[in-house]
Amino acid sequence: MASTTELDHVKAVWQHMRSNSPIYNFLLSELEVVSATKGSVTSHLTLGPKQMNSSGTIHGAVSAAIVDMSGGLAICSHGLEKSGASIDIHVTYIGQAHVGETIAIESTANKVGRMETCKICAQELKIELEPDDFDEATSSTVGAGQTAPDDLLLTCGCHFHWQCLLDESPQIAISMLCPSCSSIISGATSEQPQVITRYHNEGGVQENLDILPLITEEAYLDANPTARPARAFLTMCAEGDVAGVVELLKAIEEDRDEDDMSPAELLRYQDPLDEMKTGLHMAIEKNQQEAAWLLLWLASSLPTAAFPDEVTQAAQVMNAGRETADAADIRSLRDVQHRTAEDWAQNMGGVWAGLVGAGVLRG
Ligand SMILES: [Zn+2]
Ligand SMILES: [Zn+2]
Repeated sequence: MASTTELDHVKAVWQHMRSNSPIYNFLLSELEVVSATKGSVTSHLTLGPKQMNSSGTIHGAVSAAIVDMSGGLAICSHGLEKSGASIDIHVTYIGQAHVGETIAIESTANKVGRMETCKICAQELKIELEPDDFDEATSSTVGAGQTAPDDLLLTCGCHFHWQCLLDESPQIAISMLCPSCSSIISGATSEQPQVITRYHNEGGVQENLDILPLITEEAYLDANPTARPARAFLTMCAEGDVAGVVELLKAIEEDRDEDDMSPAELLRYQDPLDEMKTGLHMAIEKNQQEAAWLLLWLASSLPTAAFPDEVTQAAQVMNAGRETADAADIRSLRDVQHRTAEDWAQNMGGVWAGLVGAGVLRG
């Protein structure tokens, strides 16, 4: 009997709406609600002369009023007394209706709720875009105050800004609990634990995004802030960003605190989050030959004469000397499985097999 109750409720709401709105009372006074279930309302309206435009078909303003009103009734079918204001109405005209015809109006409201906000800062799930964030090619109007979605949804149903959640990484990495509702957010579907999320940003919606690697890294950096440049270094090795590596080393040399790693230490950093690989392991794994040569230049005892001319020239252009090469030879450093970079190169084959054969990777 629920539908009878909902029909009575929606009819009462419509009666109230009409008596409080001169426009509805004028344009839609003949409208009759004929059925209602939760989230779905059907009404009938027999058209008269007052709803016509000069061509004798239904006036656009009447259509818009119908959409506005029937949307409100569908929302009220969820048991609400008021539907709130429509902030955005879209009307597409696909046909015509004439005097004497009865039109059926079906409206649905699938989900009624308050706009979700970030569980940590309670702000809307949007981010203000920097003008730099715009793609000049696709965006003609670049200006301040533009926003993009920034909505990270955990499996517990809580929403967060990307940065607001990442700021909680140290706690999440230990507890694997939602920082808001304390539900377990890690999944055990694969051998590796995961924290599966849905992230909506200006690029669209990413389903099944595992953020655990990022949470782990952020938590690690929170505990070991001096490792931040080293982590940037490893990323550059993996991406083959040789100019980035040289710039980073120079920046560290120029502006270094007591606790910070020296350039020579940074070059020999071994990743505690990834099997203690060095940058050289990383460069070989990601097939970055330039980066591998640069690391040999900066952190191995390979004689300068053994380098190909283009490597030597590139190092000169970047003003990268070999003063950091004297400490431990990066080629001798082993990952957790005791593999050197040369062992990795052996497995990679291809050009790497050639370098192994030439002995340049032997520490
Ligand atoms: Zn937030
Ligand atoms: Zn939660």
